[in-house]
Amino acid sequence: MIYLDYCATTPVAYEVLDTINKVTKEYIGNANSIHSLGRKSRDLLNSATNQIANIFNVSPNELIYTSGATESNNMALIGVALANRKKGNHIIVSKLEHPSIYSICNHLETLGFEISYVKNTAEGLIDFDDLKKLVRKETILVSICAVNSEVGIRQPLKMIRQIIKKENFGTIFHSDMTQAIGKVSVNLHDVDLASISAHKIYGPKGIGLLYKNSNVDMVPLIYGTSKEENNYRPGTPSLPLIAAFSKAIRLANNDLEKKERFITLLNDKIVNHLKKYPHILINKTNYSIPHILNISLMDVMSEPFVYALEKKEVYVSTNTACSSKELSTSVMAIYNDLNRAKHTIRISLSSLTTTDEVNRFLQIFDEEYSKLSNLK
Ligand code: PMP
Repeated sequence: MIYLDYCATTPVAYEVLDTINKVTKEYIGNANSIHSLGRKSRDLLNSATNQIANIFNVSPNELIYTSGATESNNMALIGVALANRKKGNHIIVSKLEHPSIYSICNHLETLGFEISYVKNTAEGLIDFDDLKKLVRKETILVSICAVNSEVGIRQPLKMIRQIIKKENFGTIFHSDMTQAIGKVSVNLHDVDLASISAHKIYGPKGIGLLYKNSNVDMVPLIYGTSKEENNYRPGTPSLPLIAAFSKAIRLANNDLEKKERFITLLNDKIVNHLKKYPHILINKTNYSIPHILNISLMDVMSEPFVYALEKKEVYVSTNTACSSKELSTSVMAIYNDLNRAKHTIRISLSSLTTTDEVNRFLQIFDEEYSKLSNLK
């Protein structure tokens, strides 16, 4: 098998699996119980959270565990919108967000919030002038992803924050960092809120985080126990998943630059190979990270091509796994070309990918592409 869909999800690292196993077996107490078994679990929970807080240089009480980035995005956007509606009803998002952000925005519109979509440049970067124009007195929230999930555009969050805060200091800045963590270095102090997911960084599915700066007003979306640190996500904490997530974050942050250099070589190899095809367009700008390689096969439909590769045990996506039947909104936002956006294939690479896998992938790609393009 050649797995090239690491942006959809990653396999769980062995060390992380060991943690899940060990914690499940050895920590049976509910971290909310006051007896010694509960306290033992609470201690582990605190130490896992402290480790994450140390890595990101934030306070442990600014970290809220969720089921994944979809839930973190919901908690952030809806929770902040409802808490701040007296200050204004205006929210800004980019055209390069994950589909979950757009679903949340559609919901917020039904509650009376106004959503603006900031323009981006031809390179996929947020158009600073447009952002400046859009931020106004009523703007309570801006949400811009750190790394786009389809074309891999990395946004300069620090500069974006400066622009927002200069126009309206009270505007809260959220970033979906799901595709950034473990791929590039991030600074949580560039934003007020950040969404993170474990299963994109070799951690388990079903656990994520919302970083919320302690100054941000946000209402909870679910209600339950009233333990202070559990205010936003009440219920019994999933200790095995939390400990595993903490481990995954520690591992993911090792050797980021070295991993990126290797992945750049793999990405270059694929791009150079595909250049010979006149009907293949490379959807890549100067701001795309190498882990995500998006291409458009203008003379072949994406879905049959993904299935053809799958028959040879090669796994890629059409675009993001969450909207794989629709067009790529990000390619549309950057290139403004419907045909190009309808024909995308996303190849996502990892430091686990080998040169041999890439060579075999290119060979299978050539065979399947020539079959399907000839058919046409
Ligand atoms: N945001 C981005 C940028 C993503 O890539 C994804 C996963 N496709 C999500 C959010 C959703 O994450 P989860 O599966 O953890 O809910």
